[in-house]
Amino acid sequence: MQLVFATNNKNKIKEINNLIGNSIELLSLEDINCLEDIPETSDTIAGNALQKAQYVFDKYGYNCFADDTGLEIESLNNEPGIYSARYAGPQRNSNDNMDKVLAGLKNKENRNAHFKTVIALIIDGKETLFEGIAKGEITESKSGSEGFGYDPIFKPQGYEITFSEMNLDEKNKISHRAKAMKQLVNYLM
Ligand code: IMP
Repeated sequence: MQLVFATNNKNKIKEINNLIGNSIELLSLEDINCLEDIPETSDTIAGNALQKAQYVFDKYGYNCFADDTGLEIESLNNEPGIYSARYAGPQRNSNDNMDKVLAGLKNKENRNAHFKTVIALIIDGKETLFEGIAKGEITESKSGSEGFGYDPIFKPQGYEITFSEMNLDEKNKISHRAKAMKQLVNYLM
């Protein structure tokens, strides 16, 4: 079976290819010549994942899945959420985004937060959603050099180090994306 993963992120494709094995031929957006920006205009993480998958299914006719992730912080009314990539502005700069989060949480006692990944799968027009959550808290300052995005300020529950201080294999065992991906793979198998 051919299945499009609506992304051009090579790391994400590699990650899921490792889990899926040979039974499914995974295609990227580039592989199907989808080179345009896919609209992401929903006000929820699930809505954006579904919108991307639906776009590829409708326009290109492939069975497809898409993912969308956001960091939701309790004291900030679940911000940045769908704005995670561009929280501090259109420059989409991780350092600026983290600075805005740290400033917003100054003097706040509740620093609980979670990453949420939703994967939307469309097979022959039928939609299925998978959700992965990683709970934790926002640290007082940045630490670590691995990973990306908000990793230097996110300390997963049960750990005394940030995602950014873990090696990638360790993070991939407990991450929101890995949890959602595993559910998708179980379903497909
Ligand atoms: P995307 O939907 O995977 O593109 O993620 C949207 C944004 O959420 C990214 O630009 C990052 O800022 C943030 N993000 C997603 N996943 C992670 C993660 O595993 N660690 C840190 N930040 C993340």
